[in-house]
Amino acid sequence: MSHGVMPALVIHGGAGVIRKDMGPEREQAVRAALHAALEHGYAALTAGRSALDAVTAAITVLEDSPHFNAGRGAVFTHDGRVELDAAIMDGATLRAGSVAGVEHVRNPIRLARAVMEHSPHVMLVGAGAEAFARTQDIALAEPSWFHTEERWQQLQETLRHDAMGEHAEADHVRHFGTVGALALDRAGRLAAGTSTGGMTGKRWGRVGDAPVIGAGTWADARCAVSGTGWGEFYLRTAAAARIALRVELLGEPVALAAQAVIDGMIPALGGSGGAIVLGADGSIAMPFNTDGMFRGRIAADGVPNVAIWNDAEEARRAC
Ligand code: ASP
Repeated sequence: MSHGVMPALVIHGGAGVIRKDMGPEREQAVRAALHAALEHGYAALTAGRSALDAVTAAITVLEDSPHFNAGRGAVFTHDGRVELDAAIMDGATLRAGSVAGVEHVRNPIRLARAVMEHSPHVMLVGAGAEAFARTQDIALAEPSWFHTEERWQQLQETLRHDAMGEHAEADHVRHFGTVGALALDRAGRLAAGTSTGGMTGKRWGRVGDAPVIGAGTWADARCAVSGTGWGEFYLRTAAAARIALRVELLGEPVALAAQAVIDGMIPALGGSGGAIVLGADGSIAMPFNTDGMFRGRIAADGVPNVAIWNDAEEARRAC
């Protein structure tokens, strides 16, 4: 029996890695969580399930981990709540689902998928999205489920900066911990998903790029993209769709297309962050312009690979 296309899975846990905040214990815990997400997602692909299933499985693991800014461990809003955003997209059909500003949904990626599969809509927000969740088989959670002390302290620090009138850019950078996953299944279908708590101290119902199709999340027949970074810049550049359109219309390899946006357009406007990109031919790009980006992949060789720092440093550490 032919196994069709060799499956692949690519994940990220955010590009807001600050070197001085990464002790050895935290680094080990983050790497273990990335490995677990890769295992869960890849198991779906080797069992012959869809790219959508693999993306959902991998992101669910990352949302349940306290180490990333998504689901449990999400950053706090200005008034001490969590407001979660997520999106999923099926490259084969261009179907998509997303949610923004949900406060009681344990795994927003599952709700985004339910929006795609069981509603006539693409995007639901706030109380309406949660009312829809209650009509589906979607687990809800109390605010205490999402609370971590580290995020709470980050909010206090941001509030102190705000009170002093400082707009500390470094503070925004620190909290890029969004998670994302891309998969290529045996039938050659691509899917992308992204889930986040957004930016620490956000207010006024701020929504970032992650749940906006074409900004933080995109999948079509040729490539899948998930972004992490200062969302306003990903929104203004339609970053994920722009990368995919460069691949489609200019015929660029995914690495070149991703670089043009992540290392070119976004920093030129004053933004920062990273992205993961997976092509239908199995090619992978993971550019970032911050200290590091939590990331992992399993490509055609079936070997899981997890990294935080730039490739040269990861290679040095492996020696
Ligand atoms: N892109 C996310 C947002 O702006 C933040 C992140 O990547 O952590 O909401």
